[in-house]
Amino acid sequence: MPKFKLEYIWLDGYTPVPNLRGKTLVKSYDSFPKLEELSDWGFDGSSTQQAEGHSSDCVLKPVAIYPDATRLNGAIVMCEVMLPDGTPHPSNARATIPDEETTWFGLEQEYFLYENGAPLGFPKDGYPGPQGPYYCGVGYSNIGDVARQVVEEHLDICLDAGINHEGINFEVAKGQCEFQIFGKGSKKAADEIWVARYILERLCEGYGLDVQYHCKPIKGDWNGSGMHCNFSTEYMRETGGEAYFLALMDAFEKNCEEHIAAYGPDNHMRLTGLHETQSIDQFSWGIADRGASIRVPHSFKKNGWKGYLEDRRPNSQGDPYAICSRVLKTISEVPTP
Ligand code: ADP
Ligand code: MN
Ligand code: MN
Ligand code: MN
Repeated sequence: MPKFKLEYIWLDGYTPVPNLRGKTLVKSYDSFPKLEELSDWGFDGSSTQQAEGHSSDCVLKPVAIYPDATRLNGAIVMCEVMLPDGTPHPSNARATIPDEETTWFGLEQEYFLYENGAPLGFPKDGYPGPQGPYYCGVGYSNIGDVARQVVEEHLDICLDAGINHEGINFEVAKGQCEFQIFGKGSKKAADEIWVARYILERLCEGYGLDVQYHCKPIKGDWNGSGMHCNFSTEYMRETGGEAYFLALMDAFEKNCEEHIAAYGPDNHMRLTGLHETQSIDQFSWGIADRGASIRVPHSFKKNGWKGYLEDRRPNSQGDPYAICSRVLKTISEVPTP
């Protein structure tokens, strides 16, 4: 029986944003294991801000498994953190997402590649030329010498793992990149964002690069990083209608502060009303409006207020579990006729 290297990964208890942790379980299986065949595991929660020293055991419950082409017989196992009594740990935001197979999310993860504490391609002291040529750019002066290699390798490892990337692009600031992941099911895209983040950070180790997820790492006229959250429920796609849409937007407006609290730290630095954002203290929606909190695609209105919506406020450092959970909580407060 072959021995498999199962990298159990989980989110620690750090605030305001959790970090990824992982350790390897070596175990024999007849063939690549299915999720149901994986055993729970444990870790020392006192080292991850998830327990006190005298009672430090936390439980790792596998929730998804992905082939890992970078290791012989490798797999990445996404886990939820549970208390010894089997209930979710307070840090476990995934457990707060209702299971809904017909809910779909598309998340657009932006980030910077960092070298020696500055965006990749920035000169040692100071700044490169202003924004303009970098977005979807090509050429050494715009992209640098390794950024494309890193994002290409990342994409291939993710696709091999079965992660549903929809695309990648270089972004507006130098050293800034994006990937988009779409998933059918209320937890799928969020799971895959965390696994893709794990793969990216691990890949960057070998290049001496860090992944900078902060939403506004460079002050001044440089774009921040977001993680736009595109969402649709079955009702939004198949029934919808203007009255339901307006009720939904009322609920989003009423819960504005709760949404911001779940959408990643330091968002006041990014949501300024400039750089294709709405101010943090205002809520608005608009058709094809990239300066609104929620962008309504043209197709949504054209199809009788049916389809998906884009919440543009979540930021690059946010926990996709907390973000999707908050979106679904607000949707659940709006009665469907
Ligand atoms: P942008 O102009 O904001 O970058 P994109 O077309 O790149 O727009 O992103 C739109 C996102 O919306 C895609 O990531 C896609 O996965 C997602 N999406 C498309 N249809 C749906 C849907 N019905 N429900 C949820 N998300 C969707
Ligand atoms: Mn995009
Ligand atoms: Mn973008
Ligand atoms: Mn977008």
